[in-house]
Amino acid sequence: MNKAHFEFWPSRLPKTLAVPETTLYDNLAISAKKYPEKTALVYYGARYTYSQVLKEVEALAGYLQNVLGVKKGENVLLFMQNAPQFLIGYYAILRAEAVIVPVNPMNTAEEMAFYVEDSAIRAGIIGQELYGRVNELKGRTSLTQIITAAYSDYAGNGDGLGELPEAVREPVQVVDKVIEWKEAIGAGCKPFEYRGDAEDTAILPYTSGTTGQPKGCIHTNRTVQANTVGAFHWMNITADAAALLTLPLFHVTGMVHSMNTPIYAGGTMVMMTRWDRDYAASAIERYGCTHWINISTMLIDFLANPKLAQYDISSLQAIGGGGAPLPEAVGEKLTAITGLEYIEGYGLSETISHTHFNPPDRPKLQCLGIPSFDVDARVIEPSTGKELGPGQDGELIVNGPQVFKGYHNRPDENRNSFIEFDGKVFFRTGDIVRTDEEGYFFIVDRVKRMINAAGFKVWPTEVESMLYKHPAIQQACVVGIPDPRRGETVKAFVILNEEAKGDVTEEEIIEWAKGQMAAYKYPRFIEFRETFPTTSSGKILWRKLQDEERGKSGEV
Ligand code: AMP
Repeated sequence: MNKAHFEFWPSRLPKTLAVPETTLYDNLAISAKKYPEKTALVYYGARYTYSQVLKEVEALAGYLQNVLGVKKGENVLLFMQNAPQFLIGYYAILRAEAVIVPVNPMNTAEEMAFYVEDSAIRAGIIGQELYGRVNELKGRTSLTQIITAAYSDYAGNGDGLGELPEAVREPVQVVDKVIEWKEAIGAGCKPFEYRGDAEDTAILPYTSGTTGQPKGCIHTNRTVQANTVGAFHWMNITADAAALLTLPLFHVTGMVHSMNTPIYAGGTMVMMTRWDRDYAASAIERYGCTHWINISTMLIDFLANPKLAQYDISSLQAIGGGGAPLPEAVGEKLTAITGLEYIEGYGLSETISHTHFNPPDRPKLQCLGIPSFDVDARVIEPSTGKELGPGQDGELIVNGPQVFKGYHNRPDENRNSFIEFDGKVFFRTGDIVRTDEEGYFFIVDRVKRMINAAGFKVWPTEVESMLYKHPAIQQACVVGIPDPRRGETVKAFVILNEEAKGDVTEEEIIEWAKGQMAAYKYPRFIEFRETFPTTSSGKILWRKLQDEERGKSGEV
């Protein structure tokens, strides 16, 4: 165990945590019992108490079990933007002892087909506006049952804090051959007796891991509880906390830090469907938000608001985030404006958010922090597995209670993703890090082929597979290039078919790509080449192309 960090461990906290035997659903049931009339959720002016939320969770779970026949351990799709129905759907799936498959609402129909097939999904709960993208999967995939939710059904009047975002203003056009949310909730079904266990699989979030295609990470109630309870202690989230919920809930950081943890604490969530810096500032003022977990692009936008000084945001006690680096200058600006220091963390879908946190009373900027509760984190030389010391760059490997159980149906990937070390099994993160003399970790590079565009992870092989569908493209190589706003952005090098040369432009391929994949994935830049650098076996040397790009922008 890397001991150095205990020197900076917050003195109010124990050094180790026993992960509770309870489940995620138990967290909600317990908070509803303790605080039935307390506001669990505020959604554009509408307030929902813990007992109301629990009641709807029970009703939906009953419908899933009795009418749709959802069984224990069955994978259920949750494809939605941030909305009360995401939260209710999430806990209802858990109450039915089924498994949540949360999918990014930006995915296209083609991308959705992959997730649905890969996890053999039969039933899904989706945002009504996303119906068009899953409708066509009925009949050609395993998906047969769809419950659709209109966010406007749960929104209030905006609470005088400006216009409701378009996504929640009016019910989106009602579609046939689906089960409407109201019908499911109103059916009067009762769920079966709850027998959920800490070891049951609870969530299957998708990621690319260290290689190509997306794959589901198997998380149990226990792995998720480890980080839920860990965040509760570390960020000091109590029943009096009000968390501003702006991160997308399908992704592990938002899910654990902005939803699971406040629910565990019996706190209040102030939820937004769309990011809006003025709404965020007014909501902090109106509801006295104490905690805000975010991503760098949101914080940059928030601090750049010329009207920020007009809002009273003094209720904020802790601001932090992870998933992408927060530039040092932004952290300094935050402190200058609010007096708060940014608590950056680090983690992955495979670890259901953090394995590292900055100590709140001694954080460093643009730094992953120190290993969190019960995490053993080491740095190794990736090819030899030899352990490295402070100041040496190597692959981060982690062992801890939040580490997933493996990828769903991927035996080969599972063999390659774990490594034995000192008699324990560690997960290979694919991130290259360095520690300083005090035991703080810093990210330096990645072994894995992944592009981090403002926290949205883009997997080059997935984008390449899509590009190959274009008739003019003979070969494609996708890399991440530096971007002043998103940190990194997507660029594709393309070799055209002989016949297509001169007939197609870079701009035309970008336009075409926009229609094929989620908005955060399509290449912002295309460069035509005659050849690619390759290994003797013909493998494209993507890193060489990427390094050329970094050299261009002055970064090496
Ligand atoms: P995801 O599975 O989508 O959560 O992505 C995990 C990846 O995000 C990690 O492997 C890192 O490459 C990156 N990441 C997470 N936290 C940070 C951070 N604080 N700074 C830089 N990169 C991060």
